[in-house]
Amino acid sequence: MIDLRSDTLTKPTPAMRRAMADAEVGDDVYGEDPSVRSLEEQVADLFGHQAALFMPSGSMANLIGVGLVVEPGREVLCESRAHIMRAELGAHGALGGITSRTWSHPQGHLDRDAITDLFAPELPHLVSTAAISVENTHNFAGGTIQPVQDLVWLGEFASSRGLSVHLDGARIWNAHVSTQVPLGEYGRHADVMSVCLSKGLGAPAGSILLASAERIDRARIVRKRLGGGMRQVGILAAAGLIALTHLERLNLDHENAKLLAAACGVDPDSVESNIVIVPTADAASMVSEAAANGVRISAVGARIVRLVTHMDISVQDARTAAHRLSRLMPS
Ligand SMILES: *Cc1c(COP(=O)(O)O)cnc(C)c1O
Repeated sequence: MIDLRSDTLTKPTPAMRRAMADAEVGDDVYGEDPSVRSLEEQVADLFGHQAALFMPSGSMANLIGVGLVVEPGREVLCESRAHIMRAELGAHGALGGITSRTWSHPQGHLDRDAITDLFAPELPHLVSTAAISVENTHNFAGGTIQPVQDLVWLGEFASSRGLSVHLDGARIWNAHVSTQVPLGEYGRHADVMSVCLSKGLGAPAGSILLASAERIDRARIVRKRLGGGMRQVGILAAAGLIALTHLERLNLDHENAKLLAAACGVDPDSVESNIVIVPTADAASMVSEAAANGVRISAVGARIVRLVTHMDISVQDARTAAHRLSRLMPS
């Protein structure tokens, strides 16, 4: 079985398992885990943010991160298929007390006109906009990369309106290796951001929230309040530190994704990272036909399937999967 459902499926590498076994640890709720502190410092430096906080999951990093810049009763604007909208089980409304409105863009990019029109200033009778969230790469749009000039525009727009920018950078690493835009440049355009270590980079768990020192101090309290204060979690941070050493291997995933796209009738040039979105007549039946042919893929809509390449998919696996899937495509 070749499993292309998600890049979260990766298993920790032998080097990660050794680092985990040997990790120096302490009680992270006391701020005394050296491996966690080292990981937080390194990631903060990479993105040019003052401070960082290790999180059990990307969803918690986004919940707390958006909450740092949007008070209950105010709104965040984002693209209609954003992970914070679709895939966090309504946490931002259910737990954060915030509302949202969305724009739609075929590639999940910013829509400058729509954002300008959506923006709502503080008035006594309308929900006011507090932040704009952008996802890079954009998962459900097919791993698409936000053009830097849009991020520059967003930063200027947000500061002119007194808004904050939240970046869901679960796969910002993929954007970075593909575009060669420095991580610090991506970090510069966000007030608060999250990055994930357990997707294509292969760590077993963990995301990092990045922001100013003052905001991270507040985030530490909220994380504990939500039950996310972990103790000798340097065991996990040790794997995260190894993850940071092999960013460049993500390029292989991107090549494999193009191979799979071609087999599924999707223009390989439209594939910007490790995710391929395939329109189909009936997603559920394509998923079961693929499984019957030894390839697991996922339905992300009634007529959309998603293929994701990752560390545990070799070039040979990608070729085999491409061959099997091509036979299922309507000619
Ligand atoms: C995976 C993902 C997250 C975080 O997911 P968790 O499973 O909670 O770690 C956040 N944003 C995007 C775009 C993702 O793909």
